Amino acid sequence: MVEFKNVIKRYGNVTAVDDISFTIEAGTLCTLLGPSGCGKTTTLRLIAGLEMVSAGTIFIGGLDVTSAPASERDVSMVFQSYALFPHMNVLDNVAYGPSVSGDRAAKDKAHEKLRMVGLDGFANRMPSELSGGQQQRVAVARALVLEPQVLLFDEPLSNLDAKLRRRVREDIRELQQSLRLTVAYVTHDQQEALAVSDRIIVMSNAKIAQVGGPRELYEAPRDRFVADFIGDANLVEAELGAHRGARAPVRLGNVEIELDHRGARPGPVRVAIRPESIVLSREANSGLRGTVRKAAYLGTHMEYTVEAPIGQLFVVDRDVARPLAAGTDVAIRLSDHGVALVPS
Ligand code: ATP
Repeated sequence: MVEFKNVIKRYGNVTAVDDISFTIEAGTLCTLLGPSGCGKTTTLRLIAGLEMVSAGTIFIGGLDVTSAPASERDVSMVFQSYALFPHMNVLDNVAYGPSVSGDRAAKDKAHEKLRMVGLDGFANRMPSELSGGQQQRVAVARALVLEPQVLLFDEPLSNLDAKLRRRVREDIRELQQSLRLTVAYVTHDQQEALAVSDRIIVMSNAKIAQVGGPRELYEAPRDRFVADFIGDANLVEAELGAHRGARAPVRLGNVEIELDHRGARPGPVRVAIRPESIVLSREANSGLRGTVRKAAYLGTHMEYTVEAPIGQLFVVDRDVARPLAAGTDVAIRLSDHGVALVPS
């Protein structure tokens, strides 16, 4: 539905988007995720036609729209600021897109979209009489009323408090799935991206670092940046042994484990270990061992910092009933899940 081919966007001598190519399939929600300044908003604005490319090609619905102005692209955008008209009621705000004169058909359509976002009965309220979450839903209804091929969301939750953020993101995802909308969604919040996306495009320094589903990115990050940006990761030095099939022996300190080598050559490598994939125990064995340096109780889990020969490890442990005190010597076991070789 949306395709970028070698797109570059420069502002003077700043390259905001540096030769990126990707596709967003129809009926899916694709997130542009990355730290501040990585180029995600610029990418969204390039889809919308609010910015024009310096080089490259953009297709929407199979049509080359590279030089088409925003008004000729079949997309609509939901901004973080909602951008509702304060002097118009909810219904008029939603009906504004298709008809400034407020004809009957436009109002019927606006009512239908308000129902979709769960705001039946709010048509006559003014924006100032709504909560932040409700205002954002009005903004979504207003974008839906245009029935665009692609809906664009620019950090839609950033003005909401933490609890509401979770609810509104669930609403957006439910709506997208039930109407099979094609959505491009910008956020810098990796949890939000994992929760709502079919696919995530991770950006770093104006380039694409990795594209994949939430699980793929979390479990098989391609590089150090992605491993660290998507969730927490302990990155430890290891030695990859010779291999023939997909699996290979990896030496971590005094223990050897087996991992997918993911195309890496035998020799020094890095392994990303998720904090919840490290199991600590008081067992006395000769495997990998360490000493608890810090222990913190966080209600649902314990967080530990463990000093080990392979480096300092950040550990998340669901067992809050039998916490380990700082100073305890522990055996360290790695679960099969959440331990991956980082190829580059
Ligand atoms: P944030 O999360 O902070 O919004 P972002 O990933 O969306 O960041 P962009 O807004 O796309 O980043 O900006 C990418 C780079 O391009 C930044 O270095 C930014 O300073 C620069 N940039 C963006 N817009 C302009 C502009 N109109 N003129 C000059 N430089 C710009």
